[in-house]
Amino acid sequence: MNYDRILIRYGEISTKGRNRNKFVEKLRKSVRSALAPFPKIKVEASRDRMYVLLNGENGIEIIEKLKNIFGIQSFSPAIKVDRDVEVLKQTSLELVHSLYREGQTFKITPKRSDKTFELNTDGINQTIGGHLLKNIPGLKVDVRDPDINLRIEVRKEAIYLSCETIQGAGGLPIGSSGKAMLMLSGGIDSPVAGYLAMKRGLEIEAVHFFSPPFTSERSKEKVIDLSKKLAEIYGSITLHIVPFTDIQQAIREQIPENYSMTTTRRMMLRITDEIRKNHEGLAIVTGESLGQVASQTIESMYAINEVTNTPVLRPLITMDKTDIIKIAQEIDTLEISNRPFEDCCTIFVPSSPKTKPKREKVQHYESFFDFEPMLHEAVQETETIVIKPDNEKDSDFNVLF
Ligand code: ATP
Ligand code: MG
Repeated sequence: MNYDRILIRYGEISTKGRNRNKFVEKLRKSVRSALAPFPKIKVEASRDRMYVLLNGENGIEIIEKLKNIFGIQSFSPAIKVDRDVEVLKQTSLELVHSLYREGQTFKITPKRSDKTFELNTDGINQTIGGHLLKNIPGLKVDVRDPDINLRIEVRKEAIYLSCETIQGAGGLPIGSSGKAMLMLSGGIDSPVAGYLAMKRGLEIEAVHFFSPPFTSERSKEKVIDLSKKLAEIYGSITLHIVPFTDIQQAIREQIPENYSMTTTRRMMLRITDEIRKNHEGLAIVTGESLGQVASQTIESMYAINEVTNTPVLRPLITMDKTDIIKIAQEIDTLEISNRPFEDCCTIFVPSSPKTKPKREKVQHYESFFDFEPMLHEAVQETETIVIKPDNEKDSDFNVLF
């Protein structure tokens, strides 16, 4: 029995009132982007659900893609049939028969969103249930915990049959919450933070600080590979690579060693904020987790955050490292993050950075040198590249949009 479509349920977006159309449109865009390798599919979207019409494309591969799309609560491979009792009986039998293994049980879950159909829910249960029991020897009913749950949904335009509900990724469609800049290092945390921000609907552009020759091409490669992983979620990601060597050297010369890390972070945040402004973002996302290292104490964040009023989102702030690693594994970034590399921050980090830096002190130290022109130059010299996922290199992935 071949399913001809996949029914997609929206979950959280259906609670979004007047914004719903916008959310549905963003989700449709995500779905079409993820399914671009399947040119024959059609996407039909309505206020409360979406259908992917397979048109002969590989349903199993499409299901795998759908599992990763934010904004989908659950989905079901389904068959559309005419509102005709005989057709319904026949197709239900074919479907259950194709799934049935000896000794299995079933139940029917009818739903009528349109009440004009000739059978009510009891009638559907009796007519279809009876037909199945008569024609599949050994099949038994179990309404509590059936092996096969045949959902029959009667709508105005047709009846839909499905037997399986697959959990979606949840969250909100990408782009439905606006744009943010992700400060992406080569570490474990920031790609996970980016992933979680995307899950809540943020469109992400990544910003990476690069300090050649202290950090090598290999560490740049690493960040590009991490970006490729994040690009899988939406088809592409913009990466800004900021030349940071001169600023780090100036910091080393101008700022007392135990405050150099605090100033480094402040400069990074100022530059990221400038890039954000130029690209119309509304927030900055980092991979910070409270107390993990010296730069991530609450005193440090207080001293660093002073340089901007832009919301700095820290999706990992309350998470333990083991939980962060678990997500990194799931999204397949852990292996890349674990590759050896030189991080510009670790290279210049003093042996004993202040764990409780003071705002007044860091302001005082920075007041002897005008960093502004250097920051401006770094923004000017920033290299911006659009990264595509690895497996999509040769395809016309973005043609649809
Ligand atoms: P990560 O695993 O993401 O590197 P971390 O635990 O190593 O995080 P830090 O090195 O203190 O923590 O960095 C804190 C955050 O600052 C990072 O999560 C990232 O958002 C940002 N950051 C650090 N280094 C860079 C860099 N070279 N380029 C861009 N952002 C950076
Ligand atoms: Mg790091």
